[in-house]
Amino acid sequence: MNVVVCVKQIPDPAAPQALEPSHNLDRSGKLILDEADTYGVEMALQLVDKAGSGEVTVVSMGSAADVAGLRNALAMGAAKAVIVSDDSLRGTDALGTAKVLAAVIGRDMPDLILCATESSDGYTGTTPVQLAGLLGLPSITFAKSVTVDAGAVKVDRQTESGYDEVSAPLPCVVTVTAGVVEPRYASFKGIMAAKSKPVEVLSVADLGLGGQVGTAGARQEITSVTAAESRQGGEKHVDEGDGALKIVAYLESIKVL
Ligand SMILES: Cc1cc2nc3c(=O)[nH]c(=O)nc-3n(C[C@H](O)[C@H](O)[C@H](O)COP(=O)(O)OP(=O)(O)OC[C@H]3O[C@@H](n4cnc5c(N)ncnc54)[C@H](O)[C@@H]3O)c2cc1C
Repeated sequence: MNVVVCVKQIPDPAAPQALEPSHNLDRSGKLILDEADTYGVEMALQLVDKAGSGEVTVVSMGSAADVAGLRNALAMGAAKAVIVSDDSLRGTDALGTAKVLAAVIGRDMPDLILCATESSDGYTGTTPVQLAGLLGLPSITFAKSVTVDAGAVKVDRQTESGYDEVSAPLPCVVTVTAGVVEPRYASFKGIMAAKSKPVEVLSVADLGLGGQVGTAGARQEITSVTAAESRQGGEKHVDEGDGALKIVAYLESIKVL
């Protein structure tokens, strides 16, 4: 079974973030594999392992100046990586991103495509379903468990009150939550092996997408950015024997109880 995992390389969330004058995130510094995507990589590795044959490919759009994040996925066990990197991608919106990913994945359709439910920097959560739409595939979102059997994928789909059992024929696009599996740490052997695994770098012209991506093809534009309000100091209460009652009163006031 062949599985593609869409992974995004993002600026390290632990480092200070900066915006370009165009309001786009400055991605010129160190990039890391979005932690949200490590769950998809792990899920894919486990599914391929269980199937007994096939491989995991990671697909990304973004700058190829730093592919440490992709090497991390390869060190976990993915067989190869494909990244679409091109100056003309500057300003690409979520739909444009889905078009790029669809063009790469559509070259050699896998059995299953995994994404995270949302990225840690853009978090629109819209790319995977757009990707499924463009590829003409079914999609299942918010998977908290994924199994593949007899040409179909079965998913426990997280809901507010529990989960739904959903299945779809393969190929299918599935978004996984952070609870789906525990991502492995790359072993030293894996890190060494990742250094010689293939990372294919494609341009927009290679995919025949000229004019459809970048600012020219975008239907979304960030017109202004406002700093989030800083948090208020909060209230401090000293427990004088009535602490529990105060907590209950507070929870009632915000309608939690
Ligand atoms: C105004 C604007 C300007 C932008 N400018 C640029 C730019 O200059 N350069 C650039 O590279 N991108 C650019 N982007 C694209 C952006 O970084 C995201 O990749 C894209 O909008 C997807 O949205 P998201 O991060 O909210 O993903 P979500 O929909 O929240 O992501 C869900 C999942 O989809 C998959 N996914 C999402 N994005 C990617 C990706 N890039 N590669 C692989 N898998 C992915 C991952 O599995 C991810 O976990 C821009 C987007 C906007 C809206």
